[in-house]
Amino acid sequence: MSGCDCAHARANLEELIRGELREIDCEPIREHLANCPECRDEQQVFEKLTVAVRRACDEAAPQSLRDAVLSSLHQLHAEG
Ligand SMILES: [Zn+2]
Repeated sequence: MSGCDCAHARANLEELIRGELREIDCEPIREHLANCPECRDEQQVFEKLTVAVRRACDEAAPQSLRDAVLSSLHQLHAEG
C-alpha cells in the first residue's frame, strides 16, 4: 500500500492538475490514481474543467459576464 487513500488523492487532485503540488507530494497521488479507476475518473473531470476554465479565461470575457462581475464588485464596495 502506498498510504494514499481516495480522500487524500481527491483532496489534492485539483492542485496536482494545476501543477501546484511539489513533485514529492505528487508521487503517492499519481500512484493512487494508477490503481484507482474511480479517482482516475475524478481526475479526468477535473482536468476537463481546468482546461475549460483556462480556455474561457484566455478568450475575452463576454460583455454580459464582465458587467455582472463589475456590478457585483461595485456592490461589495458599496456594502463595505
Ligand atoms: Zn481512489
